[in-house]
Amino acid sequence: MTSTPSPTRRQFVGTLAAGAAALALAPSSTRAAAAGAPPLPTKKLGVALVGLGGYAIGQLAPALQRTQHCRLIGAATRDPGNKGRQMAQAFGFPEKNIYAYDKIATMRDNPDIDIIYVVTPNSLHRQDVLAAAQAGKHVITEKPMGVSVADCDAMIKACRDAGVQLGLGYRNNFDPYFQEMMRIARWQEFGALKAMSGEFSGDINAAGSWRTQKALAGGGPVMDLGVYVIHASILAAAGESPVAVTAKATVNRPQIYADVEEIMEFTLEFANGAKCEGFTSYGGPKPGGGGANRFHADYERGFVDFPQAFNYNGTHAMTSRGLLSFPNVADQNDNTYQQARQLDDFARCVRDNVPTSVPGEMGRQDMTVVEAIYASAKDGGKRTLVKA
Ligand code: NDP
Repeated sequence: MTSTPSPTRRQFVGTLAAGAAALALAPSSTRAAAAGAPPLPTKKLGVALVGLGGYAIGQLAPALQRTQHCRLIGAATRDPGNKGRQMAQAFGFPEKNIYAYDKIATMRDNPDIDIIYVVTPNSLHRQDVLAAAQAGKHVITEKPMGVSVADCDAMIKACRDAGVQLGLGYRNNFDPYFQEMMRIARWQEFGALKAMSGEFSGDINAAGSWRTQKALAGGGPVMDLGVYVIHASILAAAGESPVAVTAKATVNRPQIYADVEEIMEFTLEFANGAKCEGFTSYGGPKPGGGGANRFHADYERGFVDFPQAFNYNGTHAMTSRGLLSFPNVADQNDNTYQQARQLDDFARCVRDNVPTSVPGEMGRQDMTVVEAIYASAKDGGKRTLVKA
């Protein structure tokens, strides 16, 4: 694999991903050396991206130019002849590794492909993961895991039956700032959890996008952005799920958001009485809410605060002990560094036959909360969650 992008690759990524890849395509070997990482293994696992959209081309494909344990080797797309071929040329994988969606199961016969990464609209994750399991390949699916708990159950069962690993694209779990919060929560360094708040919003005119169509998206910003706040609150609670949920949905622009919510406010209650006040919107940040992309957790004897929580890079976080800083993470300002860490971790788990730390069960746990939010938003009533 070449680590320097060819002009063709640059052109392709630039066109389809708004130039996001330029920084990200720096040689992984240079970064690995700078980070004092071990030498490259001889065989990198092959990853096929299913769905060549903004995230696959803008973040995952460039991240796969920098990973040490896996590489981009194939793709599935609605347009194998054109987009698929351009992708193969730009990223240097064989055209024989380009598939149509209805041929994903035939990846079984392709030894180049070890891992299938599903990056399609939310409601399609289920069918694509099932096809990947049928192909006998390990699989990562993007968030939200599906559009229902039933989707998650079907994916978990299919992968278990096929004997393959199922992982989520939870990139934040591989961010050192989030890992520090997870460590603090796990070891109860600041004592019991008291309260949380979080927001992930965008000022998005998603008119015409699948993101406004319930059949493809499953819902509005809760499915897309709110899951980050839900997931962060569960991490801050050391993996515990909330026990009750209340939510309120609002639509200010019905001409765009006829099918899904535009804004969702939600409260998650945890077993010890701690609450998380959450907000997610396609209509811009909550007025006076303190930022569109933030998370805060108060514990008995301290706090964790992310003024910049969910970006691809440039995470800022502090605890009651002071500003967090990870100077040893040399590439943390690249906008694919979380994805590269996430992909390498999954590849190592597959290679070493150890379970991923972001399994399907984790996606299902979050989807249980998502379902309760939508149920509560219907009538404003509190919904209790039953332990799985
Ligand atoms: P895009 O709309 O940019 O891309 C989705 C791709 O899915 C399309 O380009 C298309 O690829 C494929 N596709 C297959 N069937 C359809 C269909 N019926 N309608 C539209 N597209 C279809 O979306 P994103 O890349 O932004 O999002 C894809 C997934 O990734 C979502 O689940 C999203 O939540 C997740 N995501 C995760 C992020 C993260 O940080 N973890 C960030 C952004 C997104 P093709 O033409 O090749 O078939």
